[in-house]
Amino acid sequence: LFAGPVDFVKGVTAMANLPPADRLEVCFAGRSNVGKSSLINALTNRKNLARASNTPGRTQEINYFALGEEKYLVDLPGYGYAEAPKAVVEKWQRLLKQFLQGRQTLRRAFVLIDTRHGAKEVDEEIMKLLNKSAVTFQVVMTKADKVNAATRAANLAQVQETLKKHPAAYPEIVMTSSEEGLGIETLRAIIANMT
Ligand code: GDP
Repeated sequence: LFAGPVDFVKGVTAMANLPPADRLEVCFAGRSNVGKSSLINALTNRKNLARASNTPGRTQEINYFALGEEKYLVDLPGYGYAEAPKAVVEKWQRLLKQFLQGRQTLRRAFVLIDTRHGAKEVDEEIMKLLNKSAVTFQVVMTKADKVNAATRAANLAQVQETLKKHPAAYPEIVMTSSEEGLGIETLRAIIANMT
């Protein structure tokens, strides 16, 4: 569904180093260990494009990937990792704010939420920031294969309820499993259809 190859462009730690804002972008945000790397790898059909890692909070870079020549996929560092040094967390939060408030070509943020846990306080913090920054965001539930249908439905309902508080939220939630391929095609189509 992506028109061309997916390539790593660069990792960025300061606004000044962002690639030229010359194409539409979507970004992916989520708590550390939410399954973001696995999702990006599944979406792009690449085994190790985004490094799946069990070291939460390790990557503090904004990673840019080119989807053909038309779009950027932006991988934001995982948040909510309590053990990261305070100075690192603060630097990251500054960069995140600057990015969300200042990136004109950012079309949509995908906020990843673990289907096992539902929306947590840190997720709501990000939603508030997105709202404030007037960035439309869409929730993607991850690791759906890890829970039974009842838990899935309950936590989906919890997230839907949470979204009512955030006007910048896109109402449709995408349920995914990178493990089983659930929702991957849907998410690809959502991105592919953005113009
Ligand atoms: P990140 O820190 O958000 O990039 O998370 P990762 O992609 O590294 O995933 C964290 C852990 O969850 C890894 O052990 C993955 O194998 C596992 N994981 C990620 N996505 C899924 C999924 O859809 N289903 C299952 N069962 N496990 C997953």
